[in-house]
Amino acid sequence: MKLNEFQQQFLSLYGAPAQGIAAAPGRVNLIGEFTDYNDGFVLPCSLAFRTQVMFKQRDDNIITVRSLNYPGEQDRFSVDEAISEGQSQWGNYIRAVAFVLKRAGHTLRGADLLIDSNLPQGSGLSSSAALEVAVGGMFNHIAQLGLPPEKIALFGQEAENDFMHCQCGIMDQLISAKGENGHALLIDCENLATTAVKVPDDLNIVIVNSNYPRKLVDSEYNQRRIDCEQAAVKMGVETLRQATMTGLQAVKATLSENEYKRTHHVISENDRVIAATTALQNNDMDALRTLMAASHQSLKHDFEVTVPATDGLVEICKEAMGERGAVRMTGGGFGGAIVCLCRDAEVPLIKAAIEKHYFERFSLNADIYVCSAGSGLQITSF
Ligand code: ADP
Ligand code: MG
Repeated sequence: MKLNEFQQQFLSLYGAPAQGIAAAPGRVNLIGEFTDYNDGFVLPCSLAFRTQVMFKQRDDNIITVRSLNYPGEQDRFSVDEAISEGQSQWGNYIRAVAFVLKRAGHTLRGADLLIDSNLPQGSGLSSSAALEVAVGGMFNHIAQLGLPPEKIALFGQEAENDFMHCQCGIMDQLISAKGENGHALLIDCENLATTAVKVPDDLNIVIVNSNYPRKLVDSEYNQRRIDCEQAAVKMGVETLRQATMTGLQAVKATLSENEYKRTHHVISENDRVIAATTALQNNDMDALRTLMAASHQSLKHDFEVTVPATDGLVEICKEAMGERGAVRMTGGGFGGAIVCLCRDAEVPLIKAAIEKHYFERFSLNADIYVCSAGSGLQITSF
């Protein structure tokens, strides 16, 4: 939606003009899966798809919020009172951010809010993190909290962990808060240090959502975390970040088969992230293809988080792109999305191959998003 149209919508809903916009992007992880909560490396990229929160301060301490993506609905709560879950499922994300900021001792202010987003929800592009970071950025701005982007990201993660009950790592919120236009971000999850890595201008990022119905995701996801934590204890390291392949072989007999395989994935994936960072810097498609293929195999056999639909999509895209592209699953697994890196000429080939084979093999329709790298959190005042 154009800016003046969005402003007009705000004016007609709230009877006064907005003061500004907090905008935060969705993301795709290029490589480094299930490494964030093991204090390892990840290489996500902020996307041009983003969520915008238009705001105007109020004289009282009430938050009212509407979303153009949920027409006719609204949520309303006071930042002076104890914040608990409300009736609106999506409104809870705004409450969640207010809750964690208040819990940390920050004084918030009331505001009228209007959300608009071109980010597909529940498609593996992390619309929830984009919303949390945009809302955190908005509170930071209007209540003059002076928070750096890392802190806004950490509050977003706390909101998701403690209020929305999803035990995600820091990657999604940190890339949304700190992403740089046209760049991926190498994140060291041990200390949150980031290095921007330019995405070559001729590289397309194609995300394909499998639309596979995700089941038992939370319990399986949490079990993987437990496997990693138990393996770290048995290896005598604080987190698997400190684990090495030599160390792993030395304790192999004391680990369960799953603990061994999960650890093998994490150690090898951390190495692949570092190698892929160099490959991206050099626009080296051969190296990217090899590394992303190895990451997918490791997620399939060692971490066991792929499903036939995502394995199938990877095969279909690999076949379509040949040596001119790289592909693997991305995100939390058990369904979800895959990501391809390729030049312009391969995009229609991917689309045609999916059209031809995916429904026939899996009785599912995939959603395809051709993306470019966009900016992280931005605040605009009118
Ligand atoms: P993902 O983060 O993968 O997109 P989630 O299930 O974690 O999927 O988050 C999606 C939820 O976030 C939606 O169900 C909704 O509650 C909330 N949300 C995301 N974008 C918006 C938006 N533009 N307006 C209102 N709520 C949104
Ligand atoms: Mg989410």
